Amino acid sequence: MFYCPTRIIFAEHAIKHAESILATMGKCAFIVSGQSSARLSGALDELMPMLGKLNIASNIYDQITENPTVQDVIRGSKLMTDQQCDFVIGIGGGSPIDAAKAISLAAANQLSEGDLYSTDKFISAYPIVAIPTTAGTGTEATQYSVLTNPATNKKAGFGHPYAFPRLSIVDARYTHSLSAEVTLHTALDALSHLLEGLYSNQRSSIMYPFIYRGISSIIKQLPIVLRDAGNKQARAELMQASLYGGMVIAQSSTTLQHSIGYPLTTEYHVAHGLANAMVMEDIMNLYQDKVQDELSGLFNAISITKEGFISWLNALPFRKGILLSDSFIEAAIPQIMASRNMALNPLEVMPGDIRNILHKLKERS
Ligand code: NAP
Ligand code: FE
Repeated sequence: MFYCPTRIIFAEHAIKHAESILATMGKCAFIVSGQSSARLSGALDELMPMLGKLNIASNIYDQITENPTVQDVIRGSKLMTDQQCDFVIGIGGGSPIDAAKAISLAAANQLSEGDLYSTDKFISAYPIVAIPTTAGTGTEATQYSVLTNPATNKKAGFGHPYAFPRLSIVDARYTHSLSAEVTLHTALDALSHLLEGLYSNQRSSIMYPFIYRGISSIIKQLPIVLRDAGNKQARAELMQASLYGGMVIAQSSTTLQHSIGYPLTTEYHVAHGLANAMVMEDIMNLYQDKVQDELSGLFNAISITKEGFISWLNALPFRKGILLSDSFIEAAIPQIMASRNMALNPLEVMPGDIRNILHKLKERS
């Protein structure tokens, strides 16, 4: 099955093509962003005159931090209700856009902190517009929102059809202001999503053309962007690959490759995409026997060997290990085993498999 109810405008100056659809979203936009990227990327400066032209009022909530918290969401939901806004625009990376999705649901259903994962309480939602400024999460095409609860130090996602954006304005120009580090980490998140589209036990061959093209683009274009941050064509290819990754995980969800990264982010502050990348080779080896045909199909289609792919990955300038404490490893295992994505693995993953991968990370530190 393929399901994506989002209108996606993927183009240079995409916002110009969004005018007539934006006009139907509502009368007051609640704009959700981080502290700097909405401005730095140029997205906010292009959005505001368009809202003005359409006589749409707006309020900006620009306090979303990386790995947004349930408290950020509830604060936003109260502000949105007080300001009587009737749709949400998330501008930024996955953090503000995921927060915008959760704010829409929290405000529409008057949810409290404890309700944010109770999807049975999601009876309605305000329309969501997504304007990504990173090329990584693909959240502009998914029904997921990933939130952190500082009280329990747990990061987890929820998925609901109402969390799909109604409109996504995807313009790679907004990613030109990204640092090399965020460019690299977010591209590796997109690569994880595309690979997980082959690994997931919900995989579907109708998504393989997107997966093959997305992975091939990242292999070719990421090194180019890391050398030449302003390369328009290469940035556009990475943005498209990220969008494909979102379209793919919207169908198949993610797997252990994502679950294992969440505690690394909450405890050791490892960026989301970097956490996925650090375990990518180990996860591929763990799954290899179960997804041999899928991996061969991929590597044949994009004319690379598995060894060639692993060498390409290892040549990228990201951190390959982290000094984890044994007490962290033992506490993380049950948390990872309990995560939602574990139901999607291509094989039954045992606590010992997770322990092995975490110890390998430690050995590489
Ligand atoms: P992010 O946490 O949204 O942003 C990382 C950093 O990059 C922030 O400091 C941000 O600044 C900055 N930034 C963003 N765009 C920029 C730009 N154009 N120029 C300069 N700086 C920019 O990073 P992300 O990797 O995109 O999102 C990660 C989150 O998404 C995680 O919580 C992850 O779990 C989640 N995720 C969600 C899905 C999904 O389907 N919903 C899938 C995968 C991952 P500001 O603070 O100013 O914004
Ligand atoms: Fe991700």
